[in-house]
Amino acid sequence: MSLVFADRLKNVETSAIRELFKLLGTPGIISFAGGFPDPAMFDVEGIKQASSKALNEEAAGALQYGATEGYNPLREQLCAFMSSKPDSHIGAAVNLRPEELIVTTGSQQGLDLLGKTMISPGDKVIVEGPTFLATIQCFRLYGAELISAPVDANGVDTEALELLIAEHKPKFVYLIPTFGNPSGALLSLARRQKVLELALKYRTLIVEDDPYGDLYFGAAPPPSLLALSASVPGSREFLVYCGSLSKVLSPGLRIGWMVAPPQLLANATMCKQFSDAHTSTFAQATAAQYLKAGRMPATLQNVRTVYAERAAVMGAAITRELGDAVAFTQPEGGLFFWARLTGAGGKTVDAGAFAKKAITELVAFVPGAPFYAANPDLATFRLSFATADVAKIEEGVSRLARAL
Ligand code: PMP
Repeated sequence: MSLVFADRLKNVETSAIRELFKLLGTPGIISFAGGFPDPAMFDVEGIKQASSKALNEEAAGALQYGATEGYNPLREQLCAFMSSKPDSHIGAAVNLRPEELIVTTGSQQGLDLLGKTMISPGDKVIVEGPTFLATIQCFRLYGAELISAPVDANGVDTEALELLIAEHKPKFVYLIPTFGNPSGALLSLARRQKVLELALKYRTLIVEDDPYGDLYFGAAPPPSLLALSASVPGSREFLVYCGSLSKVLSPGLRIGWMVAPPQLLANATMCKQFSDAHTSTFAQATAAQYLKAGRMPATLQNVRTVYAERAAVMGAAITRELGDAVAFTQPEGGLFFWARLTGAGGKTVDAGAFAKKAITELVAFVPGAPFYAANPDLATFRLSFATADVAKIEEGVSRLARAL
């Protein structure tokens, strides 16, 4: 039987990256491809204790159907966590109340709910070029026309962004201001302030996707847009914030959250109800117990230390092994190096061809082109330093040099 699928599926295609991921099972391969945290860093003992506590103390809530908005003890703990500067860079509006956020099944679901509630076919949405691939696909599924705003080492170019907002009057602007995926870029404080000004000036909704904000290596990054909005009167009503425990604690728990203006939150909750009813109450109760037990500061310290070392080793190895054939900015947090083939020494500037050759040398990474909603830079590529340990990073970068 030939199935006739919904028209919306015509807007998206299986990503080229997924094809590449199939090769990652090849024995001996070193992968810089995925954004998976290193399982060695999961706080298994802490999560064990938290899940036992959830079962011992609140089984009726943890194993029962729950409210679509989220399990209240977790909403309370997330508010406390977000306010716990310097542990969390979010430091968000210390007065954030539990009812101002909903718990989502990963921040990915927050993005999907945003698409569902805000995007009609043909609506324009501004994203960064490059941006998170799953967001591109998700917004396209709802029929969005994506406009790409340029990004440099200081994040999105706010002057270009203003021109694009004025020209396209987008439904919203989607940004990853802190250690972008894939750009690794950190939006400067001045630009953050400018983004909030633009929100007010053009009455444009800004979406801040922030799964990496607490993964910084040196000094804490500038406050989140959500935190800054506390000092820019009126700006909160134009702001959506998506947070996640995936990168700092565990992606398998699927705990994310979304802060948004009340009407948006109400509609997103309604759509979530029809989709998954609620995020796993057991996962929520476990996460709440984990946060309550006060383990998060030590966990954050651990992941920051380990990833900082890996990022430093990878940066030094790229400089040593690949020299002027590759240009990059050393990331100050997050999980990714965003790099560009310069063509120096007559070497290729086609990152797709480079990725294929790299596989034959048993090292994998993803070419940058799919991360652009428009006008891809074919010389770019993304390397993750999350999954491989220091020795593997050294070896993997040597293999990259051989492939190039
Ligand atoms: N946003 C960005 C920028 C990401 O990189 C990711 C994970 N790769 C997500 C959202 C989704 O994360 P999760 O659903 O696990 O919270």
